[in-house]
Amino acid sequence: MQMEQIVALCKRRGFLFQSSEIYGGLNGFWDYGPLGVLLKRNVKDAWWNDMITSHNELVISNGAPGTYDMTGLDSSIIMHPQVWKCSGHYDLFHDYMVDCRESKKRYRYDHVIGRFVTAKKRGEDGKPSTEIRIFVTTIETENTQSALEDAALKFFALRKKDTETLKWEGTIQSIATLPDFNEVLAPDAKHIGTLTQPREFNLMFKTIIGALGNDDDAAFLRPETAQGIFVNFKNVCDCMRVRVPFGIAQVGKSFRNEITPRNFTFRSREFEQMEIEFFCHPSQSAEWYKYWRDYRFAWYIKLGLANERLQLREHNADELSHYSCGTADIEYQFPFLPQGEYGELEGIAHRGDFDLRSHIEGKLVKEGEQLVLEKLPNNQPKYRGSGKDLSYYDDLTKERYIPHVIEPSAGADRATLAFLCEAYNVDSVPDEKGQLQERVYLKFHPRIAPIKVAVFPLVKKDGMPEAATEIYSELKKNFSAFYDDKGAVGRRYRRQDEIGTPFCVTIDGQTLQDETITLRDRDSLKQIRLKKNELVTELKNRL
Ligand code: ATP
Repeated sequence: MQMEQIVALCKRRGFLFQSSEIYGGLNGFWDYGPLGVLLKRNVKDAWWNDMITSHNELVISNGAPGTYDMTGLDSSIIMHPQVWKCSGHYDLFHDYMVDCRESKKRYRYDHVIGRFVTAKKRGEDGKPSTEIRIFVTTIETENTQSALEDAALKFFALRKKDTETLKWEGTIQSIATLPDFNEVLAPDAKHIGTLTQPREFNLMFKTIIGALGNDDDAAFLRPETAQGIFVNFKNVCDCMRVRVPFGIAQVGKSFRNEITPRNFTFRSREFEQMEIEFFCHPSQSAEWYKYWRDYRFAWYIKLGLANERLQLREHNADELSHYSCGTADIEYQFPFLPQGEYGELEGIAHRGDFDLRSHIEGKLVKEGEQLVLEKLPNNQPKYRGSGKDLSYYDDLTKERYIPHVIEPSAGADRATLAFLCEAYNVDSVPDEKGQLQERVYLKFHPRIAPIKVAVFPLVKKDGMPEAATEIYSELKKNFSAFYDDKGAVGRRYRRQDEIGTPFCVTIDGQTLQDETITLRDRDSLKQIRLKKNELVTELKNRL
C-alpha cells in the first residue's frame, strides 16, 4: 500500500517515469524525471565524494598500513568479448527460469513461491465438487499470503466469503523445494501443471559490432562495471604511480536481461552501479575486507537510512562464489517486500586474486581448494587470458605479487530507491484555519535532497516578487533552488514538502521594510526570521 503511494508520488512529482510510456512502456527500464535525476546525481556525488575525493584514511586494526589512494575510471560499456569469457560471465552468469505453457509467461525459478492448499472446487452448477489439493503460487509481493488466497479462490471458483473453507498446509516455500510441478498452479495460469522444468538463461545482452557483423562478431553490454577496472589495472598503476593498497572506483550503467524485472527500479534491466575494486596485499586482505564492509554500512546510515531497517548479512560458506573467502550484503527492508524481508543494496566481496589471475591466465575454476585453469577435454585452455603480466611490484619490499581484491559493489538505483522509501513520511499539520491536514513529506538528508531551498513571495504584488527573485538569483549561485509564486503559500509549502525540500524562504511585507525573511524547516516546521544577507551562511551551516 505504502509502496503504491511512493510510486504514484514519484510519477506525479517527476522522480521516475516508466520508459517509453507513451508506447505502453518497456518492462525493466525506467526514466528519471527532473527531480529524480537530481536525487540520483546527489546519491552518486555523495558516494564519489565520500569514497574517493575525501576518503577516510584510517589505520586498520592489525597495524597494517593505514593510508590508501583512491582513483576513478570510466570504462566503455562494450568490451572485448574475451573479457566475459575469462571473467566467467559468458559461461556462468545465468539464472534458472521456468516457462508457463498456458500463459506463455516466464519466471525466475527461485522467485516463484507458494503454499499447498486443499478445497472443494465449485462446478458450473454452482455446487462444490470433491476436494483438490494444489500448490498455489505467486511472485513475492508485499503481502504474499493474501495474493495466494486470491489465486486459490479464483482456481476453486469460490467467493471471498468462502476464504475460510481453504485448508492451508505448511509454510510459504519456493517451488524449488518440490519434486515435480504436477500440482503447481503457476502465477498466471488457470490450470495446474503448466510449468516447464527450470532452464538456464544467460543474463548478458548481446549485440553485433559493425555493419557487416554476424554472430562471430557478437559482443555484450557489460553486466557489471567491475571488469573495466580489472583490465585497466596495469594502466592505472603505471600512470598514477599508486602504491598498493589503493582502490579504483567507477560509476556507470550495467545491463542484465533479468527474467522477471520487478519491484519498481529494484530489479531493472538497465541500471547504474557504483563499484570499487580495492587492491591490497594478500596478507592484509581479510582486514581490508572488514574495513570496507563496515565503512560501507556506516555510509548508508550517515545518509539517513534507519539502522533498524538495514542489515549487514555475512554469506554462509555455501553461498560464497568459488573464489571468495568472505562476502557480505548490505540489505534494506524495502516496503514492497514481505514483512521482515530484506533486499540487497550492495555486496562487499573478498575476491582474492581471482579476477586479475583470470585476465592473465584464462578462465579459472575451483578444483578442491585450488583455482585452476579450465581446460577442454583435449587439455587445451577453455579460454585464454590476455597473457599480460598484471602482477604488482613493490619497490620498497622488493616483492612481486598479484594483489587481492575487495569489491564493494553498490547499485545507484537501489540506493536511490531506498532513500526515497525511507524518506516517505506522513503526518498532520494545521492549515491556515488551524484545521489538521494530512501532510506527505520526503525527509531526505539535506545532502541528497533534489532541491535544497525554495523561495516564495507571500503575494504576487507590492514589490515582493521582485525582492524574491533577487534572493532566488543569489541562492541559485550556491544551492539547487526553486522559485514559486503560484497559489496560496500553505500549498506551496506542501508542494515542497512532498519533494523533500529541506528549507523554504518567504518574502513578505516586512522584508521590504527591514530586509528580513522567514526561513522554514521542513521537518520541525519551525520558522525563524533573519536578515536576508545572512541567509546563504545560515543555509550553508544547516546543509
Ligand atoms: P540480486 O541478487 O538482487 O540479483 P546481485 O547479487 O546479482 O543482485 P551484484 O552482481 O552483486 O548483484 O551487483 C551489485 C549491485 O548492483 C547490487 O547490490 C545491486 O545494488 C545492483 N544491481 C544488481 N542487479 C540489479 C538490477 N537488476 N537492477 C538494479 N540494480 C541491480
